[in-house]
Amino acid sequence: MTFSELKISEPVLRALDDLQYSIPTVIQQKAIPVAMAGRDVLGLAQTGTGKTAAFAIPIIERFKSGSAQYDDAGARDNYAGTRNNAGARANSKRTSPFRKKEKREIQALIVTPTRELAIQIDDSFTDYGKYTSVRHAVIFGGVKQNPQVRQLERGVDVLIATPGRLLDLIGQGFIKLDNVKVFVLDEADRMLDMGFIHDIRKLLPMLPAKKQTMMFSATMPKEIDTISKSLLDRPVRVEAAPVASVVDTIDQYLYYVEKPDKLELLISLINKKRNDRVLVFSRTKHGADKIAKTLNRRHINCEAIHGNKSQNARQTALNNFKSGKTKIIIATDIAARGIDVQDLGVVINYDLPDVAETYVHRIGRTGRAGNTGVAFTFCTKEEKSMLNDIQKLTKKHLKLNTVQG
Ligand code: AMP
Repeated sequence: MTFSELKISEPVLRALDDLQYSIPTVIQQKAIPVAMAGRDVLGLAQTGTGKTAAFAIPIIERFKSGSAQYDDAGARDNYAGTRNNAGARANSKRTSPFRKKEKREIQALIVTPTRELAIQIDDSFTDYGKYTSVRHAVIFGGVKQNPQVRQLERGVDVLIATPGRLLDLIGQGFIKLDNVKVFVLDEADRMLDMGFIHDIRKLLPMLPAKKQTMMFSATMPKEIDTISKSLLDRPVRVEAAPVASVVDTIDQYLYYVEKPDKLELLISLINKKRNDRVLVFSRTKHGADKIAKTLNRRHINCEAIHGNKSQNARQTALNNFKSGKTKIIIATDIAARGIDVQDLGVVINYDLPDVAETYVHRIGRTGRAGNTGVAFTFCTKEEKSMLNDIQKLTKKHLKLNTVQG
């Protein structure tokens, strides 16, 4: 199947072509047609499946011409060949004789749990919508609100937000949701994990009753299932891969290790994988800092990312990792959600996660889009029960390795 068979318009096809996306992923094949037909969608998909495009493309398709009544009306015909929507807008301001004063109102709202995910989704709208005039903005906490408010005041079609800042700006009167026609609740299970579910419950009644809703979640805990039933109207359920399925392209190795020996084991593995990008998971923020400090002291250049770091520090670390300036990142689970690097070769579980499904999310960071990947897992005596949970969930035994192996 190709993207054009999904009846995607030429400007979006061109953008996908620029990104060298040749075939739609499973979730895209299943979700895009139903979403474009206006149906509610319940997407059971984890990160790495291409779920962002599965909801972003139908939104861009729906609002790419729907904003004709707004300030760039009439100028669109002149846009043909304009390389990006920012340029197109600048052009419209200079030339459009039809420019009206009405401000664009938010037509699509996407709520996602972390700043990193929010930024990533916003980047996807930039990528997929670059030949359209859909205007989008992203808001999240931990940074000053004024630049975000200024952007909102200029008017946007699509708003991507984390729950706290969204409710805050609604409370201050900077955001009106009266015109929302599409609502996306992304990573719903993660919202629950992070304690945002109360915010979501508060937000839902503020949205217009008549709207299209798409909800994505890797897992379906009871509370999320309950919300989905009240939120979605006869949804089409689309599934990319069963929750516990672990990508076949990932080799999974296990090391039994005593806690004090973890650092030396980590260093020896990193030394063997000098050419790869490595993502190391630590259970705690303090632990991540400690690992990073030791590695840097041993002249292994790395950075730690976690919730105690400022937004700027996290973004810089992610950018350095993406550009290859830093090859090693030590992250906590929540901070790592925003990492989207195509050629991430190695994931190391320095500590085992408390929840078995988190293991699947973690190792799903590697082996993306058909690439191969390796996951190394360290397990102490105390962590053995967690390892059992993981093996039960994934129905796979990790290959046992020794330190020399
Ligand atoms: P997501 O699950 O939305 O976070 O996407 C995972 C990664 O897959 C991102 O880096 C996307 O840019 C990439 N991606 C999404 N759709 C496709 C596609 N059809 N072909 C190739 N890569 C894709």
